[in-house]
Amino acid sequence: MEDCIFCKIIKKEIPSNIVYEDSEIVAFRDINPVAPVHILVIPKKHISSLIDLKAEDEIIIGKIYTVINKIVEQEGIKEKGFRVVVNCGEDGGQEVKHLHFHILGGKKLGLKICG
Ligand code: 5GP
Ligand code: ZN
Repeated sequence: MEDCIFCKIIKKEIPSNIVYEDSEIVAFRDINPVAPVHILVIPKKHISSLIDLKAEDEIIIGKIYTVINKIVEQEGIKEKGFRVVVNCGEDGGQEVKHLHFHILGGKKLGLKICG
């Protein structure tokens, strides 16, 4: 996708603080963190949002959760806990139209997740 900011991060056309990368997945620190640990995990394949997932994407979504497990261990938040969030669509507050999983942690998060 030509003008997708996350595709540009994948291609290293714009800089980011990458914490994990393999042939299918990249994870980098959010530019505007809302928690001490705020990392975005994305598939290298451009998938616009959760509702655009196809049957063939089931494997990559499973792998993303395995990568999330590795990252939370790496970041030292595995035991204390963390939150994984996927925003979808306008009401869901999705700003970047490339599927991404927010990992939030490093502090006790409030229970309020909407509002
Ligand atoms: P959304 O609201 O779409 O679920 O989340 C998009 C996230 O991407 C936001 O938390 C925002 O701070 C982050 N973000 C937007 N542009 C960039 C960027 O260029 N670099 C990084 N590292 N994060 C970005
Ligand atoms: Zn993209």
